[in-house]
This record gives sequence, structure tokens and C-alpha cells, in this order.
Amino acid sequence: MNKIETILAHAGCKIDPETRAVVSPIHLSTTFERSIDGSYPKGFSYSRDASPNRSMLEETLATLEGGAACAAFSSGMAAAMTLIQALEPPAEILLADDAYHGVRHLAEVAFAHSGIRFKAVDMTDEAAFKRALSPQTQLVWLETPSNPLLKITDIRAIANLAKKAGCLVLVDNTWATPLLLQPLALGADFVLHSLTKYLAGHSDVLGGALVAADSDGLFQRIRTLQKAGGAVLDPFSAWLTLRGMRSMAARMRMQCANAKAVAVFLDDHPAVTRVHYPALPAHKGHATASEQMKDFGAMVSFEVGSSAEEALRVASRTRVFRRATSLGGTESLIEHRASIEAPPTLTPDTLLRISCGLEHREDLISDLQFALQDIDSC
Ligand SMILES: *Cc1c(COP(=O)(O)O)cnc(C)c1O
Repeated sequence: MNKIETILAHAGCKIDPETRAVVSPIHLSTTFERSIDGSYPKGFSYSRDASPNRSMLEETLATLEGGAACAAFSSGMAAAMTLIQALEPPAEILLADDAYHGVRHLAEVAFAHSGIRFKAVDMTDEAAFKRALSPQTQLVWLETPSNPLLKITDIRAIANLAKKAGCLVLVDNTWATPLLLQPLALGADFVLHSLTKYLAGHSDVLGGALVAADSDGLFQRIRTLQKAGGAVLDPFSAWLTLRGMRSMAARMRMQCANAKAVAVFLDDHPAVTRVHYPALPAHKGHATASEQMKDFGAMVSFEVGSSAEEALRVASRTRVFRRATSLGGTESLIEHRASIEAPPTLTPDTLLRISCGLEHREDLISDLQFALQDIDSC
């Protein structure tokens, strides 16, 4: 099989048999004609069930993650919601204690009385994980690097323990992407993506996906619920995602290099108390990240000053970094994370999260240098 860069460079480029177009067209049709015998010769009948651009994206994502099947959803959270709905209550999900705040929010607003319980666990602490496992545990939900503290979980170690207890393991691979991390090869059963981030890569698509190591079992139930409920990615978003993916290898390389330069600069700055970035040798997860990832990603968090006001003041002064949530686009973003995550959150008040884009690294660094002036060193 071709290497991942090659698969990405050709994503969404199946020669169109009608026109020989190199880039596949967008099929907006919601309905597909039957043959005289009543069958659907291309397998498509109605676009809530399946549609050509979405199927092409799903096949590509399954290949990139080394999975057997993939389902693409209208958002990362729609993918998360459908997977959780597919579990058989009573069920318990062990959730990384600093998993994406949207998942913790979903647990509260959608599943509080569903017979599905969530238990927050520090997945970087194997003893704590073993203590948290119970006979009701059906699923272990990991995110590495985590958001926004960039904690690193040893996927292989946790997956081994989970397997022995008969649980499924999901890894949210939004931050690392299949270029940097291959969770299924390390023993995970499912990979979740917010396509909105690095895969689509241009802050103009909302989408999500679940890739499964096994196309039977829970995946079939996920597919049934997706078709029944209609949480599907539309053709244009699928096409745009594939278009974004074609340049992802180059984007990620430059974005990771920018993040590394920014992290080193911040680490040396007297006003910065702490930098969370796994490439830094002092980071608790540095050894595990070096082993299981190809690079350290393009997200950096840092703590600055002594209050939320001071941190917000730093963010208020950037001119290259945009003050916005989300990540993975070509433009760099800076965000005061505690104010978007509702309490109770583990995120320190003084923490700013950065998504590094494709600007020249010297412009990024001088922007931060300007923003950090007059902040008292701690
Ligand atoms: C953004 C994000 C999600 C949610 O995805 P949406 O596409 O916004 O619904 C889930 N996990 C992580 C790690 C994310 O960054």
C-alpha cells in the first residue's frame, strides 16, 4: 500500500468515468435511479443512507487510519453522539478527565437519564484507570494529546488493560491526525475525528467521522442509527474535506515546526509560567509521545501572568494570531480556554491555547513577544 502522504495527495481524485475529470465532481442529488429489475446498481438509493462524495471520504479515512469501515457525520459531536447512542444501557464510559469539553457537555445534556454513565479518569495514571474499571464499563474514551493540557496517554498500555476487561477503546485523534498517530495499530477499536480541524484544514467545513477496526458489531449499529437519524455529512462538505486533505501532509509538517518554535520561545519567556507542549523534554508525556507519535502536533498551551484578566490582556494584543476558538486552520488562533469551557473545568484561568497555522514563524513569535510585554514575570 502507498504511504500516507501519497494517499492524501490523491484524496478525492478518482477519475470520473463520464468526463475523465481528475478531481471527482460533487454529486448533490439526493436520490438515485433504480434499474429495471428494481435494484440500485451503484449501491446508492437516497442520500441519508449513503452518497458518492461521502462514501469516497469514508473509504479514504478508513484507509488512512488502517480501519475496516468509516462513517462520516455532520460534525465531530454528531459522531460522538451516535456512538454513545449505539451502546447498550446500562453502560459506563470511562472518559479522559480532560477530554474535549463538548463531550463532557454532551454527557450532561443528552445522556443524564439514559442509563449510560460517564466516569472521568486521569488516563495518564494506569493505577487510577484500573481502579475505575467496573463490570459495567463498555467503552474507554481517550484523547491524546488532550485538550487543552496536552496530556499524553499511552494508548497501547490502556488498550491492553481495557481488552482484558472486555471493553472497547475509542481514541479522539482530531489533534494528532492519522499522519502523526495511528490509534488502531496501537490497539484502539474506534477513532473519532472532528473533520472541522486539520483534515478539512481551512476553518470552513463542519464535519466528523468514526473509523472502526471492525466493520461488524458496534459499527453496524452506529450505521443503522446514522441512517435512521440522518446525522450525515453533506456532499459539498465531504468534497471540501477531501480537497483539504490533499495538502494535509505539507500543512501538518509546517504547522508542527511552527508550534515547536513557538513553544521554545514561550518556554524561554520570563512572563510565561508554564508551557504545555509534548516536544519539550520537561513535558511529562514527552517519552510516550516520542514513541507513539511521528511529531508532536501544532497545538501549544501556556500559562501566563497571575489572573484570567492578565491572560486575556495578552490575547487582546495579538495582531497575527486571531482570537477565536477551534484549531487546525491555516491561520493561527489564540484562545482563553477557561472562558469557553463552562465550570467545573480543570483548565487554569491563566491558560492560553494556541493553534499554529502556516504563517512565517518569525511573525508568530514577534506577535507573541509584543503581546507579552509588560506582563510581570512570575
Ligand atoms: C472540535 C473537536 C471536537 C468536536 O468536533 P465538532 O466538529 O466541533 O463537532 C471533538 N474533539 C476534539 C478534540 C475537537 O477538537
